[in-house]
Amino acid sequence: MSRPLVARIDTAALAHNLGLARRLAGEARILAVIKANGYGHGLLRVARALRAADGFAVLTLDEAEALRAEGLTHPIVMLEGFFHPDELPALARWRLQPVIHREDQVDILMRAHLDHRLDVFVKVDTGMHRLGLHPKRLKEAVARLQAAESVGHITLMTHFANADDAGLGIVEPMQLFHEAAEGLGLPASLANSAALMRYPQSHGDWVRPGIMLYGASPFVGQSGQDIGLLPAMTLESRLIAQRPLRKGEAVGYGSTFVAPKDMRIGIVACGYGDGYPRHAGTGTPVLVEGQRTRTLGRVSMDMLCVDLSPIPNGHVGSLVTLWGGDLPAEEVAASAGTIAYELFTGITPRVRIEEH
Ligand SMILES: *Cc1c(COP(=O)(O)O)cnc(C)c1O
Repeated sequence: MSRPLVARIDTAALAHNLGLARRLAGEARILAVIKANGYGHGLLRVARALRAADGFAVLTLDEAEALRAEGLTHPIVMLEGFFHPDELPALARWRLQPVIHREDQVDILMRAHLDHRLDVFVKVDTGMHRLGLHPKRLKEAVARLQAAESVGHITLMTHFANADDAGLGIVEPMQLFHEAAEGLGLPASLANSAALMRYPQSHGDWVRPGIMLYGASPFVGQSGQDIGLLPAMTLESRLIAQRPLRKGEAVGYGSTFVAPKDMRIGIVACGYGDGYPRHAGTGTPVLVEGQRTRTLGRVSMDMLCVDLSPIPNGHVGSLVTLWGGDLPAEEVAASAGTIAYELFTGITPRVRIEEH
């Protein structure tokens, strides 16, 4: 028997979640965001399951080339654009669409001679202040790109900093975007999962859902299941030991958990070396034999410890669900001061991935 830790990927859940995105998106087309190895679910596995999307968004040339090698002919958007002019011939050959987010990238495209015209997304900074052209500089950049022999179709885009926050929202960035784009008559792409779900007025021509496709919610205090999504990843392992812990005894590094009474504990084959968050303190929810209990003490590299007090039938070999299924990753993430995105993308290569 091999180590029992496995991440099970439910490809039907991915397809279901895309269906929900499709209903919400109405007329807008869907760019499925599958960067970071399909948010940890496996790039090609996810792309195959989401074949019905209208396009894909990734970061690197390697990812895009893998999609083309798989025979996928969808539009592919490169979310960080190109990093060096050397990449332009490959972008043209594979018909990839870079995001243009700096003025010097416009200069590079003005000078480029390519075998095919590149369709591009031009990103405007509407308040995230990370990537993107200043709204006041957009019209000039677009005019230059339209004059460049290497550039084909242009789509405008922006990315919201606070679409998941009901208070901050998208009013100001939407206004900046519309002012910048006014009169250009170009298609637009604005919405991530949160905006797709919460703000129909932001949908534009291409929506860019990521996290919702994997079944997790972008909203604090609301799980994916609450909004009709199905979790695509279940991280499962088994108890590899169980033991009594007498009142006053501690478990794990740092002896941070001391038994307040005699109790029974289980040891699970999963630790931070697998991507389970080390900052998940005592009390993080976990399922043993489908029943809810809590972690105890510090997570170590290869193992963590659970409370078997509420699970008298817990034994060596008992199934443990770290997240997924009936335990939303969002809840585990909240216990560790992080978000489901980080849990999913943090799964390490030694975790076996099985598809069903
Ligand atoms: C990652 C990313 C998305 C997807 O965001 P979610 O919150 O996962 O839906 C959309 N647009 C851009 C530019 C991104 O980088």
